[in-house]
Amino acid sequence: MFWIAPRTLLSALITALGAAVGHWLGRGWGQALLGTGLGAVLAALLVTLLDSGRGGRVLRWLSGPLDGPPPHLVGFWGEAATRVERALRQRDRAALAEREQHTQFLAAIEASPNGVLLLDAAEQIAWCNGLAAQHLGLDPVRDLRQRITNLVRSPDFVAHLQARRFDQPVKIKGPLGRGLLSVMVQPYGDGHYLLLTQDITERERIEATKRDFVANVSHEIRTPLTVLAGFIETMASLPLNEQERQRVLVLMGQQSRRMQSLVADLLTLASLEGSAPPAKDQWVPLSRLAQTVEADAKGLSGGKHEFVFGWGRGASLAGNETELLSAITNLVSNAVRYTPARGKIAVEWSRRDDGSAELVVRDSGPGIAPEHLPRLAERFYRVDGSRSRDTGGTGLGLAIVKHVAQRHGGELLISSEVGRGSAFSLVFPPSRVREQAEPADAPALSTQG
Ligand code: ADP
Repeated sequence: MFWIAPRTLLSALITALGAAVGHWLGRGWGQALLGTGLGAVLAALLVTLLDSGRGGRVLRWLSGPLDGPPPHLVGFWGEAATRVERALRQRDRAALAEREQHTQFLAAIEASPNGVLLLDAAEQIAWCNGLAAQHLGLDPVRDLRQRITNLVRSPDFVAHLQARRFDQPVKIKGPLGRGLLSVMVQPYGDGHYLLLTQDITERERIEATKRDFVANVSHEIRTPLTVLAGFIETMASLPLNEQERQRVLVLMGQQSRRMQSLVADLLTLASLEGSAPPAKDQWVPLSRLAQTVEADAKGLSGGKHEFVFGWGRGASLAGNETELLSAITNLVSNAVRYTPARGKIAVEWSRRDDGSAELVVRDSGPGIAPEHLPRLAERFYRVDGSRSRDTGGTGLGLAIVKHVAQRHGGELLISSEVGRGSAFSLVFPPSRVREQAEPADAPALSTQG
């Protein structure tokens, strides 16, 4: 109230001054009293007029957009305008901070790995982030205020919302029936709902693959075990002559070797999955791999195939020797097992223009129809199951090869034509390939039958 005293004093002073001037003028006309009264009234009127003018300037400023400074006034109205302006600026700052916080909050939800969607009490979309819109096939702007069940029509989802039991997420197909989504509904506030959506297509695929894998392993192990159990029973219950006994023992040997190969391949796969990536600075000379690969191939072929080996000159690969050997041996062993007698098998190393390198195992075998090629490296995928088993195959060879290639930063490429043979290429990136010049007379290519 500090402004009341000076303001009252000033008005009183001006009124008194007016009265004094009126008294002086009135005395000249012999109307001193009237002059005093008139003078006081006129002075008071002047004070009121001046005050109203200043108040009017402040009111005009207040009824405008308030984006400029307040009128420059001293005294009561100046103080009032400054205070109003200060309060307004404070409110603006608070609103701005709130808006920024809101924007940050929305940006955080937008960045969430889940789709987030808010439903009001009437199950209408109040807000959703881009991911939820993408998952559910919605338009985040156009579909606002739309009832969710008009847009997401999956019967499972509609039933889930209606049942009001939200302890478990519901799994539904993605828009246009593509992919699989998990939608978790969480009630909040006054009848509102928070929906969290997640694309679980890949997760489900991996789980299905795991389930298939376990089923396949059980099947692959159970079959030879059943056969073995049958033979054991036969031997125990029937009096076999020596020739029959020998035949049964050979068959039992085959089945136990089949189980051994399966267990060995499963262990290889498990160790590939569980071990650290192969070193990038351990150089394995191809010549060292060549020795084992050539010896194995010839042993397996038993002289029935013609081989051509071209290992390049002094090339080395960076990585794990056991894994690389296992990959190349698998490819060469497949070529031997699937190529009929007198067929040709070539193993060739070559550098590509971009510095990467390729090891191709080519055969003149039966070839593979194009529809099988994309699935060939899947675990237990076989084009011809009985041919694979008869030749000691486990159905895991190419899966191991592909895994090894990928662990070395490379890939497995397959090309094949029915009736003309196949080519399986292991491609390695430039960083894992080194070539050292060898003496010019070193043999780079060897042909053996
Ligand atoms: P398997 O132990 O059955 O040979 P792989 O994973 O090594 O398993 O190969 C998968 C399938 O690919 C084989 O069952 C076979 O049908 C086919 N395949 C692999 N290599 C060849 C090849 N060189 N020629 C023809 N078919 C092949």
